[in-house]
Amino acid sequence: MADTDLMTIPGQVDPVPVARDITPRADGRIDLLGLPNDDIRVLFEQAGLDPKQAKLRAKQVYHWLYHRGVTGFAAMTDIAKTMRPWLEERFVVGRPTIVEAQHSTDGTRKWLLQTDDGHEYEMVFIPDADRGTLCVSSQVGCTLNCRFCHTGTMRLVRNLTPGEIVGQVMLARDALGEWPKGSMAGLDAAEDAGDYTSDGRLLTNIVMMGMGEPLYNFDNVRDALKLVMDGAGLALSKRRITLSTSGVVPAMARCGAEIGVNLAVSLHAVTKEVRDEIVPINKKYGIEELLQACADYPGASNARRITFEYVMLKDKNDSDEDARELVRLLKHYDLPAKVNLIPFNPWPGAPYECSTPERIRAFSNIVFEAGISAPVRTPRGRDIDAACGQLKTAAQKKSRAERDREAAANEAAA
Ligand code: SAH
Ligand code: SF4
Repeated sequence: MADTDLMTIPGQVDPVPVARDITPRADGRIDLLGLPNDDIRVLFEQAGLDPKQAKLRAKQVYHWLYHRGVTGFAAMTDIAKTMRPWLEERFVVGRPTIVEAQHSTDGTRKWLLQTDDGHEYEMVFIPDADRGTLCVSSQVGCTLNCRFCHTGTMRLVRNLTPGEIVGQVMLARDALGEWPKGSMAGLDAAEDAGDYTSDGRLLTNIVMMGMGEPLYNFDNVRDALKLVMDGAGLALSKRRITLSTSGVVPAMARCGAEIGVNLAVSLHAVTKEVRDEIVPINKKYGIEELLQACADYPGASNARRITFEYVMLKDKNDSDEDARELVRLLKHYDLPAKVNLIPFNPWPGAPYECSTPERIRAFSNIVFEAGISAPVRTPRGRDIDAACGQLKTAAQKKSRAERDREAAANEAAA
């Protein structure tokens, strides 16, 4: 693994601007993956096209790039033949590099990916009868140290760029063969916007639930999701996208206003004592503050409920009393909520065990009887370490001393 500069980002600091860390390509060409239409236009102007040409070409290239999934300029048939080599000399359309692709016995697929500067991250595709969900990573590693999460034992190596984030979705469409075909007549974005529907597709939903805390990489996650949601781009409805946060309260309102996707919150405990222990960001943003931010989340309604994730840890957070307190809290804040009960997925050296199936059932029943949906999530892809909280690449592990230091710093910051 390349030993690049590690960013010193203490655990509970509000979203930190982190310089994009893109290694320039050896051949000097510029990778357009992850850039919006306007940035492509500016690059074309800088390369010598007049403003009118640059605008037209940018629109065409943007369409081929994000709507059609084309990676070579030679295939962009509505662009003048003489123009295509000109583009080819100066630009490329990249994809994340696949290091390994694995298939679980239950159909779940996991890809180990690599950035141009040698860092590894993962994405997971989970097919179901009525939908297919892509679980997308936002960071290599994570600054937070949730105690039940394998990713949390990694250092944060760096934030993923918009290209590396949207690139995961594009790679999945490549792998599943799901780019819209259609004719190129009517290049008008509006005319073409409707031709990616989720009907009959394998990939219908996206969850920002891979490696990392998406709200600590806010700008890049937003820019990537804008390309995913753009009707002229990947054209996936925001209603089919869910962002999961461990509770970065100050970024939640921005998430609603600037991204507008469904929200999932990793609650996992109902008392300060337990949540402080298992989700340490709780020391900075407590349960009340977090639930208030959920109540204020724009667009939350009964039709678009907030998902509360709750990992079931034996003798830690799984009692009847915990379930009743969960109900009380959700009602107190009048939250349009559904609860996702996640059986703990083990990993080597994990300090917890999964609750028994009977305990999980009893917990679920209490929440359900209070009128709140509380399905138990079936673990998927456990055999290839693709299940929630099992993602961890070979990047540097935090040392015990380092984790203790971070914990002490977090406490000081609280
Ligand atoms: N960082 C974000 C999103 C990634 S984690 C967040 O924390 O919300 C996606 C979900 O998996 C979170 O709810 C997380 O708490 C949960 N999770 C982490 N480790 C797990 C494990 N070992 N077993 C089950 N769920 C886990
Ligand atoms: Fe990071 Fe989420 Fe894992 Fe916590 S659960 S360590 S926030 S990836």
